[in-house]
Amino acid sequence: MGHPTIPELFGGNVFNDKTMKERLPKETYKALRETVDKGLPLKAEVAAVVANAMKDWAIEKGATHYTHWFQPLTGTTAEKHDSFITPTSDGEVIMEFSGKQLIQGEPDASSFPSGGLRATFEARGYTAWDCTSPAFLKEDADGDVTLCIPTAFMSYHGEALDKKTPLLRSMKAVSQQALRVLRALGDTTASGVISTVGPEQEYFLVEKEQYLDRLDLMTCGRTLFGAPPPKGQELEDQYFGAIKDRVAAYMKDLDVELWKMGITSKTKHNEVAPAQYEMAPVFSTTNIAADHNQLVMETMQKVALRHDMVCLLHEKPYAGINGSGKHNNWSLSTDAGTNLLEPGRTPHENAQFLVFLAALLKAVDTHADIMRATCGSSGNDHRLGANEAPPAIISAFLGEELTGILTKLAKGEKASSAEAAFVKIGVDTLPELPKDNTDRNRTSPFAFTGNKFEFRMVGSSQSISGPNVALNTIVAEALDEIATRLEKAKDVIKEIQAIVKDAVKNHGRIIFNGNNYSEEWVAEAKKRGLPNVGNTVDALKAFVTPKAIALFEKYKVLSKEELHSRYDIYLEQYAKHINIEAQTAMQMTRRQYIPAVVRFMTELGQSVKAAGELATVPKELLVEVSKLLTSANKSVQVLEKETAKAQTVAKVDKHAAAFRDKVVPALVRLRADIDALEARMPQDLWPVPSYSDLLFKL
Ligand code: ADP
Ligand code: MG
Repeated sequence: MGHPTIPELFGGNVFNDKTMKERLPKETYKALRETVDKGLPLKAEVAAVVANAMKDWAIEKGATHYTHWFQPLTGTTAEKHDSFITPTSDGEVIMEFSGKQLIQGEPDASSFPSGGLRATFEARGYTAWDCTSPAFLKEDADGDVTLCIPTAFMSYHGEALDKKTPLLRSMKAVSQQALRVLRALGDTTASGVISTVGPEQEYFLVEKEQYLDRLDLMTCGRTLFGAPPPKGQELEDQYFGAIKDRVAAYMKDLDVELWKMGITSKTKHNEVAPAQYEMAPVFSTTNIAADHNQLVMETMQKVALRHDMVCLLHEKPYAGINGSGKHNNWSLSTDAGTNLLEPGRTPHENAQFLVFLAALLKAVDTHADIMRATCGSSGNDHRLGANEAPPAIISAFLGEELTGILTKLAKGEKASSAEAAFVKIGVDTLPELPKDNTDRNRTSPFAFTGNKFEFRMVGSSQSISGPNVALNTIVAEALDEIATRLEKAKDVIKEIQAIVKDAVKNHGRIIFNGNNYSEEWVAEAKKRGLPNVGNTVDALKAFVTPKAIALFEKYKVLSKEELHSRYDIYLEQYAKHINIEAQTAMQMTRRQYIPAVVRFMTELGQSVKAAGELATVPKELLVEVSKLLTSANKSVQVLEKETAKAQTVAKVDKHAAAFRDKVVPALVRLRADIDALEARMPQDLWPVPSYSDLLFKL
């Protein structure tokens, strides 16, 4: 038997539409399809039949257990495995899986963060099947197979304890409002609008053996120390470079594992930094894209171990070279597959495009702070607001041509060019919207790339749910307002012109096509009144402003309590991560670096003794190293003191702020001392692999 072809292999571990059609009685299939398509509640009779078919399919594929797979607010995924076995009265077992077990689970929620949403006497949480995301099998290297049911996770009172629930709610909100706009524009064919996402995932690979020698990589996912290597990324020889055999073998395995789970892994290449790579799937419906991205991150890590490597998803594993992000490509599409951000070929399509573009400008300008907040984490602080792509200021790149058209439209300017003709929406002779032929702007945090927006602030390790909850909801609000205007308008064409004009006039400040890294932009953005929030602790405040609460409550995406719970949890997570970094730095310094330096000083002392007058260099070195060691020892004491102090601050925002203001700077100072020592120490005495080892040995 030959290898299965990719089409044969693809989706083999998914209980997808094809499998359901094959395995479900016609009536059941129809009922389930309707439930999925129309978002109706699943009937118990239907669930029972589906569960049984799903179980038979899973068992044939080798599964013994099932799990409700969910996404708590930790940002990772959770699963508790239950086997299908049910004991019979004669002491044997049969394999069972009921409809109830399929649609609902009751995991003990008390160990997941709830941010005060769940009182301890109500420890129970509920998981509920999201039947719009198909069940799948997870297969590990030893052949263990588990049936995974993608579920939403909520409290006894129905409050969202997870990342999926608000995502589903936000998809509904944006669909409803977008549909109103389409109807007002005269579209009678679309019956729903879907937000689509294609997340590009960046990652690093490192030799497992070296990883295990670095406590910081193991406990923090990033290096807390490391003198700069002689070579970084300055030769630009890694980006799109030939993929090394060992990495290619990894990527191939990864593709196969992802394809089996129905994940459309499409593009792979070397990224900018040494040992950095990227994978991009073909875009899909947002909740499936979010589920798949969680699986991508998990599978990347799992498969790397099979190749004696470790996959690093941290936003900034190494200082001095690029960190990793997740480019979240986002658009809206009708259920018939029309991309609403695709500039059209007809006047009608162009009008539609401009209306949706206007909505985006308004949404992003009004709620830039919320978008920024959704990307806040201790890891991402090393990218946003530091000297790295993208900056913490949100702006939208539209390209010169599109910006030119919008500007003219806003001014109501007349010109005889093609642009001017375009501006007259609804005119029969309307030309095609010029395709964006300006250079791609790689520095923009939110870039229009021809038929979608690319949100580049998202961190590499984070769930994409938060950023997409924000995008969907802020756009829903803007579309709601636009729909109301269009529905009331006597002359729709005139109203469209007015809508676009207003969007440019009131929100045009968000458009920026220049270099986002330049100092001029920082000054210019300030003049324009755009927020520039360089750290997570401040950024997160945007979740609990009256503006945010009004927005998320209006569209029933998150309640005030749910927003506050997230604010608290994310602040807490920030503080915990910095605390782990501080503890790790102290351990490494006291148990690895200081003893190594002392050993070196002993060696130097012996040569001084032996060589006497001639030992000028060892003497100089001894003095130099001794000074650095004294400084390092002081720095580690300061770090210890500041960390202990920060731990005692009770109020969650002050607590996080103490870690930001006191502990982070103490970590930076300690690192400077240790890195200076590393640069002067003999290689064989340095207790951990160097940056050169970590970055170039693969
Ligand atoms: P790049 O931005 O690197 O040039 P592409 O533009 O081809 O690459 O696409 C990057 C990602 O954007 C892919 O995951 C792709 O599937 C996704 N994408 C393309 N069209 C859409 C869309 N309409 N909605 C959401 N994502 C999309
Ligand atoms: Mg891209």
